[in-house]
Amino acid sequence: MNIVIIGAGISGLLSALELAEQGCQVNIYNQTYAGQASWAGGGILSPMYPWRYPRAVNLLAQHGKALYQTWNEKLQPVTGIDFEIHETGMLILDETDFEVGLNYKTQFQDPMQHCEYLQREQLDQVNPHLSEQFQHAIYFPEIANVRNPRLLQSLRNYLEQHPKVQFFDQMPIQKFHIQQDKIEYVETETGQKVYADQFVVTTGAWSGLWSAQLGLELPVRPVQGQMALIKTPAHWLPTMCMNRVMYLIPRMDGHIICGSSMQECGFNAETSDQIQQNILEAAYEMVPELAQFPVVQNWAGLRPSSPEGIPYIGQLPHLHNVWINLGHFRNGLCMGPASAQLLRQLILKQPTSVDSTIYSPEQLLKLEVMTS
Ligand SMILES: Cc1cc2nc3c(=O)[nH]c(=O)nc-3n(C[C@H](O)[C@H](O)[C@H](O)COP(=O)(O)OP(=O)(O)OC[C@H]3O[C@@H](n4cnc5c(N)ncnc54)[C@H](O)[C@@H]3O)c2cc1C
Repeated sequence: MNIVIIGAGISGLLSALELAEQGCQVNIYNQTYAGQASWAGGGILSPMYPWRYPRAVNLLAQHGKALYQTWNEKLQPVTGIDFEIHETGMLILDETDFEVGLNYKTQFQDPMQHCEYLQREQLDQVNPHLSEQFQHAIYFPEIANVRNPRLLQSLRNYLEQHPKVQFFDQMPIQKFHIQQDKIEYVETETGQKVYADQFVVTTGAWSGLWSAQLGLELPVRPVQGQMALIKTPAHWLPTMCMNRVMYLIPRMDGHIICGSSMQECGFNAETSDQIQQNILEAAYEMVPELAQFPVVQNWAGLRPSSPEGIPYIGQLPHLHNVWINLGHFRNGLCMGPASAQLLRQLILKQPTSVDSTIYSPEQLLKLEVMTS
């Protein structure tokens, strides 16, 4: 089977990997626009406060860590790149979430979300740098983070060496040529026609732009998130920390990612002084000692928002050879591996590992028409 994938963020690359490993010929057309989310994200392998998200999001997210571990073991000998699944655990400092957080694992049988209540003394042992203002916290020891820029490099490197995969970079797809109930070919910006048996759209925050051509409303819009990067000594901060939806994510080499903001400002991927200041204030509030270390970088990315953060995964209802895997909003890195696995199972008509109907474009888009 010959498949064209449009977009090479995490959704496109993992979809390509799943399909190529099953023998499909995969051609990936990509244009890297400023703000690509997969590079910009933090890489937390769990939704922040999972209980605030629909079950459909958590069902995919709970497989993220294990699937990345398997892929890292497979890819690393070929690429030489370790994309660092960093087992730091996560401290949540919001008192309002303690009770629901402690109950969550039991309620949903999700071992990834094992949680402990810590008093200040235990807190000091788990993370000695936390501000004195936090006298207790809940701790999720199983939650890890992945170094997502390296993850993308590793996937790309592996796929570039794969005999079934070809990349077409700086080749944005501009038009879909539809004949009755299928796409006959897609066309690049320069007018090149691209034919395939199946087409997979993984264009992240840019996906809503296809609505008119595809003849349906794809409610996916860009939501900007900014980050700041602080450099501390290696292994200085032992855990991820979260307070009032702001977080700290330590990498193994001592870089700490501080984030993040949420702003609807179109396709603008520029940082602003005010938001950067807010991010740093939130970081210093959690860990005051961070103020003594340099801020070495900042950036912004565009999340592909969807109404409830549930991704659309599956075939389009009216076009038989068009598949989508998009709209992962704040959780595309943790949902990425299970989303791509599901897409592959659907395209190749294999048994699915999760109930596919809850991500079905047909179901979700119908629901949105009914509720809007
Ligand atoms: C600040 C921030 C923090 C985040 N933190 C986390 C986190 O901790 N954990 C987590 O799970 N998720 C996180 N996310 C969310 C996650 O990054 C996204 O959900 C995910 O990366 C979306 O991946 P994607 O492949 O769908 O989109 P993208 O990575 O944006 O990729 C889409 C690609 O398609 C290309 N493209 C678009 N149009 C065309 C076209 N016409 N032709 C060809 N190519 C095209 C784009 O240039 C881009 O390369 C975060 C996001 C941000 C911004």
